[in-house]
Amino acid sequence: MVTAHPDKELAEPDFKEFGHHPLLAYCGNTAEPLAGKLRKGSVGSSTVADHLEVLEAAITALPPPYRRLLVTCDGAGASHGLIARLDALASRPGHHLVYSVGWELGERERAAITHVPEEAWQIAIDHRGEVRERRADDACASRGCAHRKCWIEEACVTELTALLREDPAGDHLADWPATMRIFARRELPHPGAQLSLFESGDGWRYSLWVTNLPERTPG
Ligand SMILES: [Zn+2]
Repeated sequence: MVTAHPDKELAEPDFKEFGHHPLLAYCGNTAEPLAGKLRKGSVGSSTVADHLEVLEAAITALPPPYRRLLVTCDGAGASHGLIARLDALASRPGHHLVYSVGWELGERERAAITHVPEEAWQIAIDHRGEVRERRADDACASRGCAHRKCWIEEACVTELTALLREDPAGDHLADWPATMRIFARRELPHPGAQLSLFESGDGWRYSLWVTNLPERTPG
């Protein structure tokens, strides 16, 4: 995923959820913890409330001049409650908040992915703007070679927003904020990776996320 930094003062609360255990938010610029919540192993539907609580505490922990926020959330963390809250925070006059939150690969997303034309998948670039390529396992001995088969494109990215929002059957994202866009990344799975049935069927490993980034830049 490419992370865009509008300026150097951008603070990045990152949410990490470890299974059903602690929920932590830390500042991506400085790796300082901002907020956290210890939860019982049996935690269930209270996840949204926990996300909101930790988000609020993390923002409060940042000094106001640094509250130009890029909020990222690992895993399929997107819920109506969290996205609605992030959307409301981003809409406040004079505030700046970009979110990028993991999204579940469900039935409608799988259907949309099967309709993405091959040329719509673009090679993902890293934060330096470079394509991350790696050597194939069976690459030749010449490390700087130009053999196509010796290099693996690390990942490709595409936007699913139009496919989901402009479906003849209706807007599949109608109950989500209009500014929310959805992206998918696909990469060749590493040997031994856990894949869903859909992924083992078409050979790619997918990760999806939603963002309110207005530009064409993938979130
Ligand atoms: Zn080669």
